[in-house]
Amino acid sequence: MAIQSVNPATGDVVRSFEPLTEEAVKRKIAAACEAFVAYANVPLSHRELCMRKLAQLLEAEAQELGTLITREMGKPIAAARAEVRKCATACRYYADHAARILTPEPIDVGGNEAYVRWDPLGVILAVMPWNFPFWQVFRFLAPALMAGNVGLLKHASNVPECALAIEELVRRAGFPSGTFQTLLIEVSHVESVLADDRVAAVTLTGSEPAGRAIAAQAGWLIKKSVLELGGSDPFIVMRSADLEAAVETAVRSRCINNGQSCIAAKRFIVVDDIYEEFESRFVAGMRSMKLGDPMREDTEIGPLATVRQVDDLATQVQAAVRAGGRVLAGGHRLQREGNYYEPTVIVDVPHTAAVCREEVFGPVAMLFRVRDVDEALQVANATPFGLGASVWTRDLEEERKFVERLECGAVFVNAMVASDPRLPFGGVKHSGYGRELSAAGMREFLNAKTVVAAEDPRRREQPVRQKPETSAPKSDAVPAAAPPIVQRRPRTTSRFREQR
Ligand code: NAP
Repeated sequence: MAIQSVNPATGDVVRSFEPLTEEAVKRKIAAACEAFVAYANVPLSHRELCMRKLAQLLEAEAQELGTLITREMGKPIAAARAEVRKCATACRYYADHAARILTPEPIDVGGNEAYVRWDPLGVILAVMPWNFPFWQVFRFLAPALMAGNVGLLKHASNVPECALAIEELVRRAGFPSGTFQTLLIEVSHVESVLADDRVAAVTLTGSEPAGRAIAAQAGWLIKKSVLELGGSDPFIVMRSADLEAAVETAVRSRCINNGQSCIAAKRFIVVDDIYEEFESRFVAGMRSMKLGDPMREDTEIGPLATVRQVDDLATQVQAAVRAGGRVLAGGHRLQREGNYYEPTVIVDVPHTAAVCREEVFGPVAMLFRVRDVDEALQVANATPFGLGASVWTRDLEEERKFVERLECGAVFVNAMVASDPRLPFGGVKHSGYGRELSAAGMREFLNAKTVVAAEDPRRREQPVRQKPETSAPKSDAVPAAAPPIVQRRPRTTSRFREQR
């Protein structure tokens, strides 16, 4: 796939990029590698200042950056601005909490001193999707850079301008050269980057096939990998639910990001007693969504990101209908310029249909009627995915059963599934492994190094275990051009020595 910025609302090619050559990629890996060695000398307090500056830039430039996102992948402009601002919250979260997360943890082993320290792994490759072209990258970038790792970004080929804008923001925030670089490369080139000895680990957010390819290679290379893959989240509504709030949230959750979110509710599982009422209100809600130009402030659903997304969605709707499904709303692509697909509701799709086990990545909802909690759980768990689940009930016993038995990475009760820098984010089953965000996300790319030292009175006067150095004020002050260097030898490993 060519590296092109194509406006999904018009089909116009905005910009094309020549992929980097093999040699250029090697130079960038070498730069990342050198940056990692030098970055070990940059105290946490300086990283914190840069991270706060990055948050400040994101907030100050949310309108321009949001416009870039909308032009490149079609989400409504208000949501694009909100995405940029959310990235600032992740930067501030890790600026505030990195010192705590990185503090060595003492362990009582009786007598000897023992603790765990958290060391960065090195150069981390991040392979990212287009659906949240800023947020997905910042979920990786903020914890990685605060922890002392450095990043190489292979972004989706349809959002090259977002990828370059992020690299530029990191540079302007004051992070040392080479700590975060964008690689404009094609998929076929990812394998050789990951295979490079100087790349320590990989994180991929994307589809199941991409995850399998990366995981297989990382496994063979014995490199750490984190996978954030697809989802087919259930949205379960029980009799005791606040129906009005449930319907409103159901529509929002299915249509957020033009229906292209991994944690969007995709399968709506509703108990018999309230099914009819839920169905009619939900259909009305989906029909009322305002579809149109994503640059307009009042647009609720814009075009899908690519022509292929619309083709795939149309194929899945046809398959659902062939399997016996009935379309109650929408069901068609719009016959106009741009990649538009109507908000769609399908009922009566048999559980055996293949589409029930696939991720439907667009504003298309399937409704399922169930008898009780047990059947709701059975339908909810009948998917290869396990990312999130939203449960609507005011019965605490029902809530307990759902929380215990749903096979997924997050359960939200009477609320929409959402990501938050404070909360671990990730899935089980084919939704991937590992976690992003929170302390858990930062530690994915840290070496939990166990240290045990025999008892020695001198250790009491000169403690070896130290808190990570941080004294930065909690402000958005512009970092000094040159980072202060602490008197410490640079970390070098045999791997880096060989390559330099
Ligand atoms: P995708 O086609 O898998 O692409 C994701 C990234 O992987 C892109 O940079 C892509 O590059 C690259 N890629 C594709 N095939 C690859 C391969 N064989 N080896 C190495 N890299 C490969 O997914 P997408 O269509 O961009 O994104 C949508 C998917 O992401 C959905 O399934 C969604 O659920 C998932 N997602 C998951 C999360 C989560 O946190 N769990 C969050 C957001 C999205 P090219 O663009 O050059 O092909």
